[in-house]
Amino acid sequence: MKWTQEAKDGLSRVPFFVRKRVKARVEEEAARSGSNQVTLRHLHTCRKRFLNRMEEEVRGFQIDSCFGREGCPNRAVDIEGLALRLEEKLANRDLKAFLKERVDGPLKMHHEFRVSISDCPNACSRPQIADIGIMGASRPRVSEEDCTLCGACVEVCREEAISTEHGYPVVDEALCLSCGQCISVCPTGTISQGKTGCRIMIGGKLGRHPRLALELPGILEPNDLIMMVDNCLDYYQNECMKGERLGEIMERTGWKGPENINKEKA
Ligand code: SF4
Ligand code: SF4
Ligand code: SF4
Repeated sequence: MKWTQEAKDGLSRVPFFVRKRVKARVEEEAARSGSNQVTLRHLHTCRKRFLNRMEEEVRGFQIDSCFGREGCPNRAVDIEGLALRLEEKLANRDLKAFLKERVDGPLKMHHEFRVSISDCPNACSRPQIADIGIMGASRPRVSEEDCTLCGACVEVCREEAISTEHGYPVVDEALCLSCGQCISVCPTGTISQGKTGCRIMIGGKLGRHPRLALELPGILEPNDLIMMVDNCLDYYQNECMKGERLGEIMERTGWKGPENINKEKA
């Protein structure tokens, strides 16, 4: 559906974590009123309704994804169906009912458990401020193939993690963010694909006391990742007393993530 510029500007001022939901509601509102264009009036009507009936809108959790699937060339991985699998996991836990038992007063959006998926370390969906942040990772591996010293890998690496000073590429693992860009540009296959999967971080949030998520070590394959998310949710549901976010619980209890994390890096 088309949007007038005024309506687009109005939507851009809606807090990012509810923007997708508000956009869908506003388009429904416009369609209900027989219009094929969203105007500022639709946005205002919808915002009023949204604020008055916020508890109805709360689902108990949110999953945000970056725009990688829509053709972004920076994607480090394509994990088929990851968002859907996570959606299913979270829906099965009925987190809205869980939160209702713990929160005094009406539920608000900021009580929801948030998962954010970015397909590369550029982190467009802001996984660092979600309860669970997931980031696509593609680790380079130096193979036996001869290096022509073309310099493409050194040039593309924004972390200055590669050097070819000794006549072959050396990757500094401490600097490498596993974005996979050097793998894509190497014409000889000297830098080839190592481990792929996801990095995971837990306990991020915004609000009055913002907190960046703590990254757990390793690159996880999809099944391990789902298991890790399950473990974090178990912990959250066992320890959450008043609707606190995972990061607040971690601060209170000193928890640093599940024990069974995969520490393998490459
Ligand atoms: S996080 Fe990476 S893959 Fe996703 S939209 Fe941003 S740049 Fe593209
Ligand atoms: S994968 Fe690592 S070494 Fe390669 S470009 Fe990205 S940050 Fe640099
Ligand atoms: S891109 Fe490949 S061939 Fe070129 S310098 Fe790097 S490793 Fe060598």
